[in-house]
Amino acid sequence: MVDSEELARRHGGAAETVVVNTCAVTGEATRQARQAIRRLHRERPEARIVVAGCAARIDPQGFESMAGVTRVIAEQPPTRAFAASEGTRGFLAVQNGCDHSCTFCIIPAGRGASRSVAPREIVAQARALVAGGKQEIVLTGVDLTSYDADGLKLGGLLRLLLRETPALARLRLSSIDCIEADDDLLIALREEERLCPHLHLSLQAGDDLILKRMKRRHLRADAIRFCERLRAVRPDIVLGADFIAGFPTETEEMFAQTRALVDDCGLTHLHVFPFSPRPGTPAARMPQVARDVAKDRAARLREDGARALARHLDLQVGKTLVLLAERGGAARAADFTLARTPGVEAGQMIEARVTGQDGRALLIDPLPASRSGALIARAP
Ligand code: SF4
Repeated sequence: MVDSEELARRHGGAAETVVVNTCAVTGEATRQARQAIRRLHRERPEARIVVAGCAARIDPQGFESMAGVTRVIAEQPPTRAFAASEGTRGFLAVQNGCDHSCTFCIIPAGRGASRSVAPREIVAQARALVAGGKQEIVLTGVDLTSYDADGLKLGGLLRLLLRETPALARLRLSSIDCIEADDDLLIALREEERLCPHLHLSLQAGDDLILKRMKRRHLRADAIRFCERLRAVRPDIVLGADFIAGFPTETEEMFAQTRALVDDCGLTHLHVFPFSPRPGTPAARMPQVARDVAKDRAARLREDGARALARHLDLQVGKTLVLLAERGGAARAADFTLARTPGVEAGQMIEARVTGQDGRALLIDPLPASRSGALIARAP
């Protein structure tokens, strides 16, 4: 969310000034930021290194003491729409910060309270992305479902955005919190075909006691009910979720509840992390599960995820799908299912028949109009 060039102008001015944006979402991200600073100082010992971002706000002294660092920016950046593009997709940050305090998470310490970007600014950025050729926009935020600006919650924002960008083929959401989702989001999913039938849920665990110890605001039954409501309004929706395996005090029986949730919620795409304590968080002071046990549980949960994905891929065989080609011979369906599309140029939207699957992605045969390179100009 920080404009590095602007920071370089403000805090250095000289060509020798380099701004390093840090992230504290995972311990690994912070470690990589420190590594990048050390490498930078080694390769360009004359450069003035300015450190910004949430890891710097959490540990300013730690970064200040690093060789070559001339300044650490601890202030929160202004909240404004931040667009970034990766290949065929445009990413639009519409919210930052978080008002919650999950016991495993360091984000609120680094990114502050929840702030939402004004809808008019988001619309302007989205129009610019579409004018620049993006056919798909992904809305991002630290706690996206807490979006609230000028009387609009997330669902209202989605509907406004789709109305104001008629040329946009697909609008997608990054991770959301099932307990915060507003009714307008369900209405938008029911009424807006261009809103992708794909949601990634921040579930984290399937056992109520662990959810309480995580200080999540939903229970197991809430997650299941939310998924049922989603399917009622959008039967073709495909769901993913984040999980932490081996959270402090988690027993094998509690973990079994998490595994069972994959089927109970009908999840397809899993992101699984073995618990790793972040210093300074309440969870780091709870009785820990042995690291090898946490890793083993994560591996088993990932296997459950692989089986769920394979079942989903099998169900696609024989269908005709619209795919948006990315770089590297891959493409995504509107529901985020991956397909192999060797030879199709990135940015093309093609129609293809699904002929098989390889365990991770669909194998396809483009329809004749797509083979000739004609762009499909309709919504997903
Ligand atoms: S909702 Fe919880 S996990 Fe997500 S950013 Fe906020 S504190 Fe962290």
